[in-house]
Amino acid sequence: MSRSESKNTEMMQCRAGCGACCIAPSITSSIPGMPAGKLAGVHCVQLDDSYNCKIFDAPDRPAVCAAFQANLDVCGTSKEQAMVLIARLEMLTN
Ligand code: SF4
Ligand code: SF4
Repeated sequence: MSRSESKNTEMMQCRAGCGACCIAPSITSSIPGMPAGKLAGVHCVQLDDSYNCKIFDAPDRPAVCAAFQANLDVCGTSKEQAMVLIARLEMLTN
């Protein structure tokens, strides 16, 4: 998701090169380039090759993305762990 996201770091800082939260979850709100949102497991089209958000500061970045805060419960200690944790959350909430 990030660009060394340092907001609300009481839990953890966003991990560079991760991007799991831009792939693993479904997003129902409109994303530039994905007007119907995205399905779980699909790369967001706004995720660049370095796993950073191309529209991080843009006003049309989905509010759900801007509100998401890195935390150990969701992000785990690796991208692989985050993919599993987020997929599990996805199943529990959908
Ligand atoms: S899953 Fe967590 S660590 Fe990975 S990009 Fe998203 S916020 Fe950052
Ligand atoms: S819009 Fe940006 S922050 Fe949101 S899922 Fe896509 S790449 Fe990630």
